[in-house]
Amino acid sequence: MSRDLEHQLNPEQWEAVRHGEGPQLVLAGAGTGKTRVITHRVAWLIAERGVEPWRIAGVTFTNKAATEMRERVEKLLGGSTEVFLGTFHRFALRLLRRYGERVGLPRGFAILDTSDQLAVMKRALEAAQLDDSVFAPRAVLSRVSSAKNRLLGPAELERESSGFFEQGVVRAYSSYQRLLRESGGADFDDLIALAVRLLEQEEELGERMRRRLRYLLVDEFQDTNHAQLRLIETLAGRGGNLTAVGDEDQGIYRWRGAELDNILEFERHFPGAVVRKLERNYRSTQTILDASGHLVSHNVSRRGKKLWTETTGGDPVRVYRARDEADEARWIVRTLRGAHDALSYRQMAVLMRTNSQTRVLEEELMRHQVPYHLVAGTRFYERAEVKDVVAYLRVVRTPQDNLSLRRILNTPPRGIGKATQNTLFQEADELGHSLWDVLRLERFGGLSPRAANALRGFRDLVLELRSCSAELDLGELVERILERTGYEALYRKDDDEARARLENLRELVSAAQEFAEDYGEGHPAFLSASAPPSSPEARSAQGSLLAPSAAQTAAGAAVAVPARALPGSEDPESGDAPASRGPLAALDDSGEVEEDDPLTSFLDYVSLVSDTDALAADRGVSLMTLHAAKGLEFALVCVAGLEDGLIPHFNSVSEDEVEEERRLLYVGMTRARQRLMLSSCQRRRVAGRYQDQHPSPFLDELPAELLEVEDGTVPAIAPAASGVYTYFGRAPHTSSAPRGEPPDWLRRDGPPRTPRPAAAPEGLAADLPLERGQGVRHPTLGSGVILDVEGSGENAKLTVFFERGGKRRLIAKYAGLRPR
Ligand code: ATP
Ligand code: MG
Repeated sequence: MSRDLEHQLNPEQWEAVRHGEGPQLVLAGAGTGKTRVITHRVAWLIAERGVEPWRIAGVTFTNKAATEMRERVEKLLGGSTEVFLGTFHRFALRLLRRYGERVGLPRGFAILDTSDQLAVMKRALEAAQLDDSVFAPRAVLSRVSSAKNRLLGPAELERESSGFFEQGVVRAYSSYQRLLRESGGADFDDLIALAVRLLEQEEELGERMRRRLRYLLVDEFQDTNHAQLRLIETLAGRGGNLTAVGDEDQGIYRWRGAELDNILEFERHFPGAVVRKLERNYRSTQTILDASGHLVSHNVSRRGKKLWTETTGGDPVRVYRARDEADEARWIVRTLRGAHDALSYRQMAVLMRTNSQTRVLEEELMRHQVPYHLVAGTRFYERAEVKDVVAYLRVVRTPQDNLSLRRILNTPPRGIGKATQNTLFQEADELGHSLWDVLRLERFGGLSPRAANALRGFRDLVLELRSCSAELDLGELVERILERTGYEALYRKDDDEARARLENLRELVSAAQEFAEDYGEGHPAFLSASAPPSSPEARSAQGSLLAPSAAQTAAGAAVAVPARALPGSEDPESGDAPASRGPLAALDDSGEVEEDDPLTSFLDYVSLVSDTDALAADRGVSLMTLHAAKGLEFALVCVAGLEDGLIPHFNSVSEDEVEEERRLLYVGMTRARQRLMLSSCQRRRVAGRYQDQHPSPFLDELPAELLEVEDGTVPAIAPAASGVYTYFGRAPHTSSAPRGEPPDWLRRDGPPRTPRPAAAPEGLAADLPLERGQGVRHPTLGSGVILDVEGSGENAKLTVFFERGGKRRLIAKYAGLRPR
């Protein structure tokens, strides 16, 4: 094994893999095998050093990256492993599911997503009597988030806040935390912050954890924020066995509080750390490396490095200037189809700055039946109807989950109006109990018999679902919810919207079913971190959706939250922890291990799938945001929408922010193994109106001799001009000229450039009859004839045949046509 591993690595990588005790940082550029060092080190520790898998944890940022990591490790080991390989949030959640009560979290606590957070923040502002037109909920939330990422509670934040707005934020923060506590929920940032608090506050637990978890490996270290760094510090200890790998040129989460200093000052945080470099890139061609390296060299805050590859040369980077997004989509899809001879669609990706750029591209892909999947942007679990049903599941699991209960109380409508709800909320407030307790105890005083009946009906429904949850599998439970709540009936209507909603709900049934099947096999889907249930008791409990303790009380209404005993003492050094559980479960070998039940696991999965995760299996071309592409690689990559305002994004104003955008593009470009394409539009429709777009200034930072530029805004009049010219002031490389020497006609002092055609004037010419057979003239496409007219007036859709451009579909008011 050792020889095998060594053979798959270069000497520098091998050194890092068999690094002994103490911290090390592998600081190296994209594609140099940093993730490979992590996976090989995990395999080496297990296979060569005999380290028990539960003593090792590999942590990264996205579920997709974690899944890939697991696949790579399991391939090396030749079978599945119980090493923890997951995200930071997953790690923290596993810890809190077991010990959360020690930091004030109720059992079965819910995790809020962004829209839940917004709803709670709005209530928090109201409670703190702050005007939400001054204190915009989103803005306040982002302040709260950054405070949490720095591990500052409201009191600590207050100490550094002055002025009206900042003081208001502090008040909102503390009222938000109070509401969260009352509803028994935690937001995403809390997961990390509370895990840190738990380990620091419970010294004995922290100590045991450090002894148990002997090897900690962290990928993409450049994107850690302060809270994550502290979590790593508490887990590894200052001189601990931490292997961190990262690249300061790929730090793209500063807006979420990531601190590049964590990597730039690694030796200060972990004294005695060995810092290693890797310089050979195994991923990309020299051209791609040179182009991306040249771009990122414009950044000031970096350590700087050199990369080389044996894959010399390579195709030039193709750059396309499109007329608009439809033209861009056509070019991209045409190019992808052209490349399909040599590459499968799975090896191709289109990366974008924002989610909203995908729609037009998706349509074009569908038109040509090119398979694709969206890695970001589906946000399946954020759709209202899906969230509703997930809220039912949460209430079935934990009826005290106020937040979810509020959501479904009158959804679908069942006669529990606003006034009734308010009475219920007040009653809960006065009693200091959960809403569920008020329902259970029937504290309906002051309500009309009708309202009280409606509430009883709802309570009985929840009880019924809870009791049948013990017999049904996950998919069946979701189906039962749809049926018993009336969702099925509600959306079984003949309109598109209702149909789409019903389809989403059916998709949820499939997702739950799939999850349950994988869970039964001990491989919870997407949950690389979740150790399979292994004890005979746990296996026999699998039939039930709830953990035994919860299932027993499922039929009864009283679900008191039992105070959990502290785990008994154990000898941390004995190494006799159950061999078949992850490092966190192993902590519990005092006999009170509580295996996650499938329902809790599923709900955790739903909470943790971030926008970087695909719901669909990897099929065809991957469409995703640049952020989501971190750590991945594809044979062919197209970065679309390279326009000023998109990248750098118009929100990025300061030099630091622009540097972060540059790194983001660098991340995108370095995903490519063989071919790289960059496209931008001359105009783009924003909120329904066309807007002129300038090329991204980053294009100007690429070495012109490595590019092959094509301009779709120039009509292809004669093959000689072929629409290729430089639009950002420097001469591109073309395949017909030797590298570095652009053809004469493209030299700056050569013949004048093809003038850029004027943008098509907007509006429909008053003197243009919209009729079949009418001759027209287009500012760039020249003369043509109308073949078909759909609708009338300026919104009419026209099919026009142009002598130069062939058949085109245009909207009359945007087409800029004149009669001929
Ligand atoms: P990124 O910065 O983008 O996360 P990385 O440094 O983590 O990149 P990897 O993803 O580990 O790089 O490796 C990049 C590619 O190079 C992968 O396809 C990997 O399998 C390959 N690779 C890395 N090291 C070697 C090696 N020694 N021999 C052969 N292939 C290698
Ligand atoms: Mg990597």
